[in-house]
Amino acid sequence: MSFDYDLFVIGAGSGGVRASRMSTSQGAKVGIAEESRIGGTCVIRGCVPKKLLVYGSKFAEAFEDAAAYGWTVGERSFSWPALIANKDTEIDRLNRVYISLLKNSGVEIHPSRAVFLDPHTLQVGDRRITAKYILIATGGRPTVPTIPGIEHAITSDDAFHLRDLPRRIAVVGGGYIAVEFAGIFHGLGAETSLLYRGEQILRGFDDDVRHHLAAEMKKKGVGIECRTEVKRIDRRDDGALDLELGGGRKLTVDAVMYATGRSPNTRGLGLDNAGVTMREDGVVPVDGFSQTNVPHIYAIGDVTNRVQLTPVAIKEGMAFAATVFGGRPTRADHSDVPTAVFSQPEVGTVGLGEAEARITCGAVDIYKTTFRPMKHTLTGREERTLMKLVVDQATQRVVGAHMVGPDAGEIIQGIGIAVKMKATKADFDATVGIHPTAAEEFVTMRELWAPPKAQAAE
Ligand code: NDP
Repeated sequence: MSFDYDLFVIGAGSGGVRASRMSTSQGAKVGIAEESRIGGTCVIRGCVPKKLLVYGSKFAEAFEDAAAYGWTVGERSFSWPALIANKDTEIDRLNRVYISLLKNSGVEIHPSRAVFLDPHTLQVGDRRITAKYILIATGGRPTVPTIPGIEHAITSDDAFHLRDLPRRIAVVGGGYIAVEFAGIFHGLGAETSLLYRGEQILRGFDDDVRHHLAAEMKKKGVGIECRTEVKRIDRRDDGALDLELGGGRKLTVDAVMYATGRSPNTRGLGLDNAGVTMREDGVVPVDGFSQTNVPHIYAIGDVTNRVQLTPVAIKEGMAFAATVFGGRPTRADHSDVPTAVFSQPEVGTVGLGEAEARITCGAVDIYKTTFRPMKHTLTGREERTLMKLVVDQATQRVVGAHMVGPDAGEIIQGIGIAVKMKATKADFDATVGIHPTAAEEFVTMRELWAPPKAQAAE
């Protein structure tokens, strides 16, 4: 049987684009469908525009700190529309770059929705297209709980296009997106509350990281309220929103943004027609090679809900192309994935948190330090950086490295290589520090941390 394409990719986000380009480079004829803009969540409404807003939001503190270094900064004002317009210009540029990357590598772009008609056939706009292999890379979208008045809430998708910066905003959730946007809004001058239902923000991260970040954000003035649920949202005549919180408390804001997780884009995809199994929550389950239950249909990225990170989707895409078209069966590797949360201050982390390591490794050695970043010795700003190493006691392998502080993402990227290579604490110790940097603390922590109780007993 002959097909229109060797591979048809549904979704031109980071994973889909990389998989299709790698597949053409192995000689495959590839088509890709995208119903929205080429680039997907990361480029269009995620990582990239978010990071630009983070940069924008850091100027207020920088202006304040400048005085300690002898600078007099004149009258300051901030224009949200200017920031949004400049951000949009950059996203348009990147969108064009992605389109040319696809075209230059010979991938045929179909700017339409694709729906499965049968295991090898897709309805793509007004065309029927057949493909030998099909890759589902449709990503995800924000989900919000169903509470009365939820229609008044925005999500991160909308936050990038707000006409004005709200004077008061509540951000609901305690994950990556919630803490990042709370930092953005606060930095830009909005009175910001972060409302989280659990005990502490960033569930799943090392506990010291969670507590340290929450304390630092509070110091800056973000109103973090844990164990707080929003029961209903009412719009008042003046346009403001009344949030009814648990325990009958009320909070009045001008906008409420929900960052309560993302769900896979599988609705209406016709997976049934192709016989592809889908979980109740819309996730497409796959094996280690990203293969679905239908042998010629694969899925990568957020739609598979393994690790919802762009570089992971890209790796999965490359492993897919190597497996299917490169003759090199390659599993996507999800171990020791370094990650950063672009909160303020930033979080960088790789490997296991302490609690997780105690379960996985048994006995662990902990090294940790907190200190004032050198920059703030002059500014007097009461900000502290946290660094922590989690070491498997038996093997002395560093199984986790964590940081909360400026440039944590940049620093942990390098440490991630060492952790991935299974470096031991002795390898860290044998490395010469770069002075004066914050990063050098990772190779100069010598004293084993003991819990306060044990110290008292000594
Ligand atoms: P997360 O899954 O990280 O966090 C969702 C948060 O919403 C959790 O705190 C969760 O609470 C809370 N929540 C879930 N349901 C409800 C509910 N019904 N009511 C109240 N609170 C609720 O999702 P995000 O939306 O923040 O981000 C999605 C993913 O995108 C992340 O997991 C991450 O992988 C990726 N991402 C990565 C970034 C980066 O690399 N810097 C940046 C942004 C996103 P609980 O903890 O109790 O479950």
